[in-house]
This record gives sequence, C-alpha cells and structure tokens, in this order.
Amino acid sequence: MESTLKIYNTLSRTTEDFKPIHEGHIGMYVCGPTVYSNAHLGNARTFISFDVIFRYFLHLGYKVRYVRNITDAGHLESDADEGEDKIAKKAKLEQLEPMEIVQRYTIDFRETMRMFNTLPPSIEPTATGHIIEQIEMTKQIIENGYAYEVNGSIYFDVEKFTKEYNYTILSNRNLDDLLNNTRDLDGQGDKRGRLDFALWIKAKSEHIMKWPSPWGVGFPGWHLECSAMSSKYLGNEFDIHGGGMDLVPTHHTNEIAQNLACHKTQPARYWIHTNMLTVNGQKMSKSLGNSFLPNELFSGNHKLLDKGYSPMTVRFFMLQAHYRSTLDFSNEALQAAEKGFTRLMNAMKLMNGLKVSTNSSVNIDAVKTEIYNALNDDFNTPIAIASIFEAVRMINSINDGKETITETDKASLKKLMTEIVFDVLGLQEENNTDTSKIDGLMNMIIDQRNHAKLNKDFATSDAIRNKLKDIGFEIKDGKDGTSYSVIN
Ligand SMILES: [Zn+2]
Repeated sequence: MESTLKIYNTLSRTTEDFKPIHEGHIGMYVCGPTVYSNAHLGNARTFISFDVIFRYFLHLGYKVRYVRNITDAGHLESDADEGEDKIAKKAKLEQLEPMEIVQRYTIDFRETMRMFNTLPPSIEPTATGHIIEQIEMTKQIIENGYAYEVNGSIYFDVEKFTKEYNYTILSNRNLDDLLNNTRDLDGQGDKRGRLDFALWIKAKSEHIMKWPSPWGVGFPGWHLECSAMSSKYLGNEFDIHGGGMDLVPTHHTNEIAQNLACHKTQPARYWIHTNMLTVNGQKMSKSLGNSFLPNELFSGNHKLLDKGYSPMTVRFFMLQAHYRSTLDFSNEALQAAEKGFTRLMNAMKLMNGLKVSTNSSVNIDAVKTEIYNALNDDFNTPIAIASIFEAVRMINSINDGKETITETDKASLKKLMTEIVFDVLGLQEENNTDTSKIDGLMNMIIDQRNHAKLNKDFATSDAIRNKLKDIGFEIKDGKDGTSYSVIN
C-alpha cells in the first residue's frame, strides 16, 4: 500500500499522521450554513472540500459519521453577542415566520450542494432542534464554575477559564494582545470580562425566536450549538472538526472553551480549516461587489463573468487548488478548468474502448502511487489532478496507437480512474459540458434574429426571442452586439 494519510492540524500547526480514536471509524463535525440567505460560494468551497475528505475516508474503507449542522437560530450579526439574530432580522424584513426563512434557504442550500454532487452528511442537526441539549450544557458549565448569570443572560467566564486552560490554543494568538485589541465593556451589557461571550441570551419582548430556560425566556449563543450537537452525536472526544478558517479566532476558539469547561476534554483531535476565495486577486466580499452566488456562476448572470460554468466545471476548478490555499476566480482560470474537465471526461469515455495488447508500454502503478501519495498528503487534490492528467495523456496515446496496454493493466487503469475521479473527487459526467457547441448554436440563432431585425421583420425577431425565453435562454441587445444567458 502507499503512504499513510497525513493531515494538517490547525491545533498543532503541523502535519500529523492520521490515527482515528476507534480503529476503522471516524467521527467528523463540520460547521454548516446559517440559513438566512442563498448559499454563498465560500461556503460551497468549504463543503466541497469536506465532501472530498468524507469521500476519501469512505474510499479508504472507514465507517464515517459526518455531522454538519444547520444554524437556524442564535447566530447574531456580530460576534460580540450584540445585534439581532440574522434569521429573525431577515424574517422581519420579508414579513415571514423565521421558520419560513429557514425552510426557504435550507432548500436552496441542499439544492446547491446537490448540484455540486456533494454527498449528504450522515446527520444534519439543527440548532432549534437541540435547545434542551444547549440548556443542559450551559447548566453544566455553570456548575463547573466557568459561567455566570446576569439579568437572565449567561456568560462564559474567559478569565477564569484561562487560569486552567489555554484559551487561544487554536488561534495561537497572544492573550494580552487579544485583550488589548478587544473593545472596552462600554455598551456591551452585563459581561464581566472583555473576552466573555454569551452562552444564553435573554430575549427582549420583541424577539421572535425564544425559548423558556431556568434563567428566563431567551435563546442560545451561536457557539453553543456546535459544542452541544458535536458531543451529542460524536461523543465528548471525536476525530475531526472542520470549517472555514474565518471560524478559528472566535467560533471554534469558543467551542473548544465550552467543551473543556463542560466535559474537561478537548472535543476534536484534528482541526481542519479551508481557506478563502478571491476574485482576480482581491478578497471576495459582498461590500466590494465582487462576490457571486453559485447560481450566478452557473448562469453567467454577473457583471464579472464572461459566461456561465457548469457545476462540475466549478467543482473541478475548486479542486485544482489545495483546500488550505486561497482560490482565485477569474474568467481565464474558469475557462481553463472547463477545457480541462472536458478533456478528462473525454478520456474517461475513451478508456472503456481502448484496444488491448500483449505488452504494456505504460506504468499504471507509478501513476496510482502518485495519486495516492498526493491524497495522503493532506488531501492534496491539485497534485492528484496533475497525476490524473498523466493518465489522461496515457489514455490518449494508447488510443492514438503510440502506447500499448495489456488487458490486466487496462482493468487497473479503469478501476483507478473510476474510483478517484468519480468516487473520491466526486466529479460526474454532465450532458452539457461542451458549452462551445451551445455557443455556436446560439450564435447561429442570434445571427438569424439580427438578420430578421435588419429586414425590419420584427415579428420573426420577437418570435425568436420569445421562443428562446420559453426554453430558458435570455437574449440581450447591447452596444457591443447581442449576447445570451441561461435563465435559472
Ligand atoms: Zn460551528
């Protein structure tokens, strides 16, 4: 067998050999979405990265329990226990029940994940479904002496905690710097210490999502749900905890503190974090106006995009960067990924029909070792993909008669490619991968319509436009000519 699996652990800041707590079994928790708006691309990248990790564990023969929560209450707009619940705020804006907001965006999130061909997790628990567990955990933290009540709210006592534990073990930040950089207590309610955070927040009368508790009517702090749900489904100590790297300094730091204060154990052995997205080298953010939603990326309906890209092109594109590196979106990079993905899928089809010979001039084992070495090196998908393209070149050369393959080698090649490309990387054939053909066809129709317009045959030009709209294409006449987009 090839090398052993190594994982970069944020907790130790080193790459470690992976050893599960119970041989053959893996418990993995990943912080899921807050369902108050459409799934965004940064989230999609995180969940696609963990999907490959999940799939690779399954491929290696592990029995995996993968828990990814849905935050449907308690995620305030700021980390400082202030502001409104994101879901309640959206519900008020749209004059809907909070659960209508939750339902709408949970469906959108699942649909997006399905389009990206991610496997559903083993359990997808919700914060509102685990209020009792969160109250019980808060009670235990109070009993252990790490939390206090003020006016119906419960706060985690970070100062007390730091006397026994390292609060910044995950972020590796200096505690004094952190204290100096945190705002004064002015206007921050009833907290005793600057770094203290809410486990339970007293609800104002106008607050719509609230529950009874031993301390009065309120709602849980955001960080608590993940501590409560991960220990409920995976035990007090489990193998892997993951999420986006933006969660390290606050959400995951506080989760570790809560678990230690409650169960006296660190929750996860390995902490895995995915990096951010950039667009043309700039951080992707709503405020910079350079962020796009998965649907905009699929349809091309965005000012920064030349055209739309299929979900599998986007997935393939994302896997061409390591999950711990930033991933830069540009039209050029997406177009290159589209070509690469088409080339890969063509080779997968060619592979089945390759003629066999009595000798092999290709070395399948060498490619196999390279692929597994890459995946075992902290799930290094870009290196694995580079080796997969070695195999693509082999397939094309054998097909051209420049190389030869035996029947046994052909069977190993097929097994390797099918397992890695489809099962582990989660790529799949798409009917419309060759968008250049659609482009050609659409340009032909647009030419016909322009011709009709030129002849003042507006009945025909309008009919063409309306017919295209019926089947899902929108025609736009601009000063640089006519373009089309796919309507979703
Ligand atoms: Zn979480």
